[in-house]
Amino acid sequence: MRKIVIAIDGYSACGKSSTAKNVAKELNYRYIDSGAMYRAVTLYFLDHLVAITNCKEVEKAIREIQLSFRVNAKGVSELFMNGINVEKDIRKMRISENVSPVSALKEVREAMVAIQRKLGKEKGIVMDGRDIGSVVFPHAELKIFLTADILVRAFRRQKELLQRDDLVDIDTIVENLNSRDQIDSTRKESPLVKSDDAILIDTTHITIDEQVDEVVRLAFSRIVRSV
Ligand code: C5P
Repeated sequence: MRKIVIAIDGYSACGKSSTAKNVAKELNYRYIDSGAMYRAVTLYFLDHLVAITNCKEVEKAIREIQLSFRVNAKGVSELFMNGINVEKDIRKMRISENVSPVSALKEVREAMVAIQRKLGKEKGIVMDGRDIGSVVFPHAELKIFLTADILVRAFRRQKELLQRDDLVDIDTIVENLNSRDQIDSTRKESPLVKSDDAILIDTTHITIDEQVDEVVRLAFSRIVRSV
């Protein structure tokens, strides 16, 4: 069967990663969480006190970062930075609170997009993020744009954080999601936008299984069309 590229974009905490992960599993495709890459860069910048207003410092830091995805024994893709598994650290609130200004930097975006395009060269990939359908893979055979009510998104994110023993109050989460959406949608470099050819799915009232079924159904229709 012909393999395609599936781009899943949308606002923060709309279920992009869960959808993408499960769709990839169903289709036996590779799943790439592009947000994890921006989070890892942010972790590095914070730990190494990189001043994001200093281009030279930013460029030097980017050269020092080596990112790779490895599939663990449970079949889950995990991000490694300079050989260290950073999956746990990059999901913390400290990263969520700093990631959007870092990912608005041109130098950071160029470096990440180059890696993402390489990963998608062979197709058979599901990638989620903010600019996957608009910039990274403008010719993706299937583009999805997810949205959902802000409170529903915040409660879902709170539950996820709690599962990692991170108790964060709902107001803090709402504030963080709104602030990231605002920065991500209005930045100069690759802002979060729905491409004209992306299919909009509102996940407010549907379950994750329903989201996944819908995207898989759309994927099969595109696979048949692209043969
Ligand atoms: O997807 P996630 O919420 O983990 O992404 C974290 C942040 O990374 C986003 O708020 C956004 O600032 C940035 N991002 C981006 N482009 C992508 C994916 C994520 O700018 N393709």
